[in-house]
Amino acid sequence: MLNLILFGPPGAGKGTQSEKLIGAYGLKHISTGDLLRAERKAGTELGLQADAYISKGELVPDEVVVGMVRNFMKENADANGFIFDGFPRTTPQAESLDGLLSEFDTKIHLVLGLEVEEDELVKRLLLRGQSSGRVDDQDESTIRNRFREYQNKTLPLQSYYEKSGTYKGVQGMGEIEDIFAALCAHVNEL
Ligand code: AMP
Repeated sequence: MLNLILFGPPGAGKGTQSEKLIGAYGLKHISTGDLLRAERKAGTELGLQADAYISKGELVPDEVVVGMVRNFMKENADANGFIFDGFPRTTPQAESLDGLLSEFDTKIHLVLGLEVEEDELVKRLLLRGQSSGRVDDQDESTIRNRFREYQNKTLPLQSYYEKSGTYKGVQGMGEIEDIFAALCAHVNEL
């Protein structure tokens, strides 16, 4: 199994680069944001609960997302590996993920961090909001709240993965293909 985390703030290009990495390495994509939006669209109890957090730009409670990831991994136990996109976002999520992966006799091999400046991220998200219809991409105060959550709760994970030697940062500004090539170079070094 090859397990990658695509790490970075909202709007860094995690979704775009995940799709390309999946194609190149035959991995299963786990995006907790996509899973939560699917629950919301289906009108499930979980989706309704999550909506209250998502629309304010706050993180959904750890146990909710960890439960979703556990189910997804069990349903896809025959995968070549996983690419985690938007997960983990807190230290307890990262610890739960380590535990889950050890149940599958595997681990995180590489954490690829997309590094982009905040003003560029706000521009990208507002632009995406015009076409995606995502409630949390529509106004600047919700977007800024998502960055605050990222700074306070998610960014500390960078040092968590630096300590285990799995974190590699990549410049996330520039051409999509150039960024993809830089990501692939790290995967191919494994
Ligand atoms: P994303 O599509 O990854 O930008 O996620 C959109 C929103 O879903 C986030 O702003 C959070 O409200 C929620 N969300 C997605 N993934 C997680 C996660 N791993 N932990 C907590 N909340 C999450």
